[in-house]
Amino acid sequence: MAENIQLEIVTPEKYVVSEPAQIVMAPGTLGEFGVLSGHTPFLTSLQVGKVHYKDASGKEHFVFVSGGFAEALPDRVTILAESAEREEDIDYQRAKAAYDRAQERLASQKDDLDFARAQSALQRALVRLNMVQGSSSASH
Ligand code: ATP
Repeated sequence: MAENIQLEIVTPEKYVVSEPAQIVMAPGTLGEFGVLSGHTPFLTSLQVGKVHYKDASGKEHFVFVSGGFAEALPDRVTILAESAEREEDIDYQRAKAAYDRAQERLASQKDDLDFARAQSALQRALVRLNMVQGSSSASH
């Protein structure tokens, strides 16, 4: 059987994941990539999106990441993100409120609108909402 790799997903606030994984898929800025044990080392930036991995028992997990960086080594993947949370920890109402706020800002056409910031907030909210709506455990 193939060996596991150690997956670490870290933000400035907390350790979100620290466990062995059979495979890790992550949203690189150049496209989604997968890492198995023994992978050639590389470093890449990430898009806002979801990390998908199988733990040592084969169970699948999804984790929101707000961009950041990933370093793959033959026995380890480290993801440093500004924010990240496991799918089951995503608060639907909070993401919906963030989505509505960003939409309002973008529609407001105010002179002091920070367009890039509002777009990033919208993108984070959209991915979170998609993850919750796509999961069978959604309850809202
Ligand atoms: P908000 O405006 O609601 O804070 P945001 O996209 O600006 O949304 P982030 O800066 O990405 O928030 O994250 C700040 C912290 O809040 C992080 O710890 C992140 O994991 C957490 N967080 C943000 N939105 C959610 C959510 N919908 N469910 C659970 N945790 C969240």
